[in-house]
Amino acid sequence: MTHKLVLLILMAVQLLLAGSKDEYLILISWDGCRWDYLNRGLTPNIQNLIESGVKAESLQPVFPSKTFPNHYSIVTGLYPENHKIVFNNFIDPRTEEGYRRGKNDSSIYEDKWYGGETLWMTAKRQHVKSACMFWPGSETYEKSPDYFRPYDHYLSHQKRIDQIIDWLEMDEEKRPHFLTLYFADADDAGHKYGPDSAELNNTLMRLDSTLGVLLFRLKKIGLYDKTNIMMVSDHGMTQIYEENSIDLTAALQGINYKRNGNDPVLTFFVEGEQRQELYTRLKKMEKGFKTFRKSDIPDRLHFKSSNLIGDIVVMADPGYYFYNPNWKAGKGAHGFDNALPDMQGIFVARGPAFKQNYKTGPVKNIDIYPLMCKVLDLQPNSSIDGRLERVSDVLR
Ligand code: AMP
Ligand code: ZN
Ligand code: ZN
Repeated sequence: MTHKLVLLILMAVQLLLAGSKDEYLILISWDGCRWDYLNRGLTPNIQNLIESGVKAESLQPVFPSKTFPNHYSIVTGLYPENHKIVFNNFIDPRTEEGYRRGKNDSSIYEDKWYGGETLWMTAKRQHVKSACMFWPGSETYEKSPDYFRPYDHYLSHQKRIDQIIDWLEMDEEKRPHFLTLYFADADDAGHKYGPDSAELNNTLMRLDSTLGVLLFRLKKIGLYDKTNIMMVSDHGMTQIYEENSIDLTAALQGINYKRNGNDPVLTFFVEGEQRQELYTRLKKMEKGFKTFRKSDIPDRLHFKSSNLIGDIVVMADPGYYFYNPNWKAGKGAHGFDNALPDMQGIFVARGPAFKQNYKTGPVKNIDIYPLMCKVLDLQPNSSIDGRLERVSDVLR
């Protein structure tokens, strides 16, 4: 046999073995669940998972610490500058076409916005089925998982759990082995009432009891012992003070610009001499925010090499927000520097792939994609920012 043929046979065997494990992975996101919410003694079902599984001190989001960039980094292992979902909403300044997640906007279905390879695409390549009970980036025409539900903010917890169980009860050849499950409740309550409110604490208890229902039902259908559960959040939350409003109207007066970004990170596309003019004006009025030329954005933020990021960038300090006449700031916000303690999320995992009663330090959310590939026995996409070796200590 020639060398080439041996190599081919080896590759074929590897492909056949990939994803052949009789195990499941459910990736659960509690949007906006700050790392320390789990220390409040309100989440006994998560506590059970922690005691029989793994807990990281925190899960570090990518910058900006917003919902879409982060959920998409978790499933691609890429920084936003590389996966292209740099904000929750944005325009392509060359074409002026927009990516918006609003109810009556179909742009989130358009494949062209999404870079990288999601875990469900990796799985599909290796003949493993996936299903998303909501996940930013899962609702697309071509790059979607085998099964998904279009986003409905108001779908009850019960119906979300029913859907997960229905998928897991499908015939084996149709059944997904990778599933996602998403809840916006902790983010909603954090924005509206603040991270230290009684309403937020009640929300945590409600989310935890839903988790209890899921675990109970997995046991009932006999799949609990074969299921790896990974609980994550996309970012944390910090208190916002109404008086800390930043009004950029004067700085933008007479400047011809296009804007990308969502509070607390705004970026401006400005041509010619006006670019320096805007930079100088913003620099002069800096209070409660910082101004950068795109080329001067700190490297640690990995937020530079995308043409969706404007030439001049302003970032609010925690507690501050940019005034917008069409929008009222809540009591809590996120999106700030991803190194801030309040922006850190959660990571808890339990199941046959994970160590028991094991604690580890902070985990970066870009490392979750290679970790999930390992758990599912899948060959990961080779060009990613995440690294398995930084997080593999959690595995059995
Ligand atoms: P943020 O503005 O970063 O706090 O985003 C949180 C919000 O994103 C949630 O309250 C949802 O309304 C929205 N969202 C989350 N997942 C999806 C999705 N798959 N499709 C559309 N909107 C979503
Ligand atoms: Zn979020
Ligand atoms: Zn939010």
